[in-house]
Amino acid sequence: MGNGVNFFEEESSIKKEDTPSRNSKLMLNCKSFGFDCNFTTSEKDLEKIIEEFQEHTNSEHFTDFPAGILKSSLL
Ligand SMILES: [Zn+2]
Repeated sequence: MGNGVNFFEEESSIKKEDTPSRNSKLMLNCKSFGFDCNFTTSEKDLEKIIEEFQEHTNSEHFTDFPAGILKSSLL
């Protein structure tokens, strides 16, 4: 057989954690969750925005959104 040589060149991409850059604000709006509601919230802090949004959906829509769902819609 031939003496082919295979090169598997792996790009050395250093992957850091997927953290949003500090300057970008996070946003959540109620409409994107199917509510007929103009509530939006924007925060730099992930935990904070989730807390705020959960508070809103709890008191206004009597709906509990798991933090995981909110997080995944932020990314
Ligand atoms: Zn709402």
